[in-house]
Amino acid sequence: MFEITILGNGAATPTHQSNPSAQYIQLDNQHLLIDCGEATQIQMMRYGIKSQKISHIFISHLHGDHYWGLMGLLSSWHLQGRKTPVYLYAPRALDEIIRLQLKASQTILNYALHFSPIPADSPCYLVETPSFSVQSFPLKHRIDCTGFVVRERPDIRYNLRKEMLGPTLGKAQILALKQGQDTTDTLGKPLRVDQYTYKFLARSYAYCSDTMPDEAITPYLHGVDLLYHETTFLHQDLDKALATLHSTAQQAAQVAHDAQVKRLLMGHFSVRYEKPAAAFEAEARRIFAESYASVEGHTYHIDSQAVG
Ligand SMILES: [Zn+2]
Ligand SMILES: [Zn+2]
Repeated sequence: MFEITILGNGAATPTHQSNPSAQYIQLDNQHLLIDCGEATQIQMMRYGIKSQKISHIFISHLHGDHYWGLMGLLSSWHLQGRKTPVYLYAPRALDEIIRLQLKASQTILNYALHFSPIPADSPCYLVETPSFSVQSFPLKHRIDCTGFVVRERPDIRYNLRKEMLGPTLGKAQILALKQGQDTTDTLGKPLRVDQYTYKFLARSYAYCSDTMPDEAITPYLHGVDLLYHETTFLHQDLDKALATLHSTAQQAAQVAHDAQVKRLLMGHFSVRYEKPAAAFEAEARRIFAESYASVEGHTYHIDSQAVG
């Protein structure tokens, strides 16, 4: 399973139609949160997400629309008696902001909050486990801001063909095949990995908000299955995008095209557009056909693709 649920896709301020940035990612048994704008807790309740499962949080930058829901979430977990640790990756200044708020309310969290500052000027692997990695990379915005790429690991995965399973395959044989190794069954008969498994490429998801279009990020995005790129404005408002270091739908589509991603998901829509979806999709699809306006509450699946 590799799914992204959009909790908020609006820019700057909450409205009746949209909430500030936040996304929940489930990658098999991993639960991640990217950005945590105001109302993220409420949105998770609304869409049936069990927030306690989240172990890793990534904050792109310290404009309030990307993290003003975080303190409330951390506090609720404390009040609910959470014991499992939380790994938080964010610009360095957030550590002090959190400490000050905890100090002022004389709160000592029940759980361990592990804070790791994200380098602002260079790419960095923030997380590398046997099953997934998260890499950050610098974006171009008014303050330090980073994008993220979430990737399955390893690069190639082997899933067993169920119809090939039988009594002469034990745990050791299954483990070897899943690791892509030829082996022998319990009677000594050779088992070839290409006969017993399907081969899949690792899936990937990239998040770029907030930023003006930047060619320098193309290598990090190259070939990802799904790219969420901010589109605060339509191109008719390019002057506003330039003034605030944001992107237009046309520019995001060009980024998606240049990076040869499979699908583009747009968001961080300015509140000036009342019903943005159709206009943003029409503009982006002139350059990149697989462009979609994100919808709050929708879960976007990334499917495995068999190879070989
Ligand atoms: Zn923003
Ligand atoms: Zn911003």
